[in-house]
Amino acid sequence: MHPDSPELRDRRLVLLGGGHSHLEVVRRLGRSSGVRPRMTLVSRDPVSIYSGMLPGHIAGLYPAGAIGIDLTELCDRYAATFHRGDVTGIDRQRKRVLLADGNSIDYDLLSINTGAAPSLDRIPGAAEHAIAVKPLQRFMQQLDAIKAHGGSAADEPMAIVGGGAGGVELALALDVRMHHRKQILLITGRRGLLPEHNPRVRRQVRACLQRRDIRLIEGQRVSHIHRHGLRLDEGRELASAATLLATAVRGPAWLGETGLALDAAGFIRVRRTLAAVGDPAVFAAGDVASIDDMPLARAGVFAVRQGPLLATNLRRALAGKPQRPFRPQRATLALISTGDRYAIASRGRFSASGYWVWRWKDWLDRRFIRRYSDGDQGDEPVMRC
Ligand SMILES: Cc1cc2nc3c(=O)[nH]c(=O)nc-3n(C[C@H](O)[C@H](O)[C@H](O)COP(=O)(O)OP(=O)(O)OC[C@H]3O[C@@H](n4cnc5c(N)ncnc54)[C@H](O)[C@@H]3O)c2cc1C
Repeated sequence: MHPDSPELRDRRLVLLGGGHSHLEVVRRLGRSSGVRPRMTLVSRDPVSIYSGMLPGHIAGLYPAGAIGIDLTELCDRYAATFHRGDVTGIDRQRKRVLLADGNSIDYDLLSINTGAAPSLDRIPGAAEHAIAVKPLQRFMQQLDAIKAHGGSAADEPMAIVGGGAGGVELALALDVRMHHRKQILLITGRRGLLPEHNPRVRRQVRACLQRRDIRLIEGQRVSHIHRHGLRLDEGRELASAATLLATAVRGPAWLGETGLALDAAGFIRVRRTLAAVGDPAVFAAGDVASIDDMPLARAGVFAVRQGPLLATNLRRALAGKPQRPFRPQRATLALISTGDRYAIASRGRFSASGYWVWRWKDWLDRRFIRRYSDGDQGDEPVMRC
């Protein structure tokens, strides 16, 4: 079928999850001048939160309304249908998506961009007593409770478990949110602080944590989380008014019933074209996907970079054409914000820091939101890591 064949109009393209890649798929396919498939975006939440701005929101730099993309408006703008629903399964034989409310949606081609789930079963007590950063929407709802927690038990610290960029940004943002009056603990696990960044960045972050009196506990795993704190695997108990988990993630549990090929952590195995291994009618991108032979960090920057290719390949798959491979960039840029209009840039062996880095990050972040909120027509994906 030619990509502009009128028959395309009758093909049903269903997009599961309002993740970063799907924002771009809706925009690209929706504004294409050729024939468009019937596009339905299904998401649990009507607003897609942009994680890059979440620490800034926690620190009070952005109101909640400034860090999300309204999926209903996006779909209206690009002639797609928005369906609010919680996906619980896929009947691949019938080509049908199953929703928690008992409804279902039929597809000809399916794309999954639902993000990752927290690995709550790795630490005993985490499911009952920890606050997971993912899903972001639930975490945002818990923020007020965190503030209440933090405000009331003035003597008890708050603990953040996870020494990656997300954990560091959260610790620094919460410190600002609590007006530097609350002791914050940052526990990094065996891999230590920012294992994927260069030593200069680590030094700068360490100095920043020290200046702000944030207690860094490195090389220790948390072995148990309970109502009033946590235990380290060396046996030491630490009190904590609230314990936040910014640690490893896994594939959403519902994928287990779909019969799709999954990797050891439960993520959907895909080829470089983002087509699922073993099912050419299913594609996946972003955190939920795992490209065979191409290990990538679970970072929004890759979900964003995959968006344009996913749009192209979905269109080509609908037309029965061969698809193109994903080519990631060699090094990604990370801009780590410290919550006080200051940021640290990291890319390979490069690092820089200052107010100007934060201004740069702020400009990039706002441009990302604008792109999907105001109908910005530029073509380059704009997210930093
Ligand atoms: C504090 C923090 C800061 C971060 N900062 C950065 C950063 O600066 N740069 C960076 O590259 N990465 C960052 N990350 C990582 C980044 O958040 C993820 O890699 C990114 O969000 C993954 O994007 P995604 O498109 O795969 O899915 P997501 O952004 O997770 O979106 C998934 C979507 O699917 C929907 N959904 C999920 N499950 C279902 C379901 N069952 N049914 C229907 N809908 C569903 C959700 O509502 C959501 O809209 C950060 C993470 C954290 C925690």
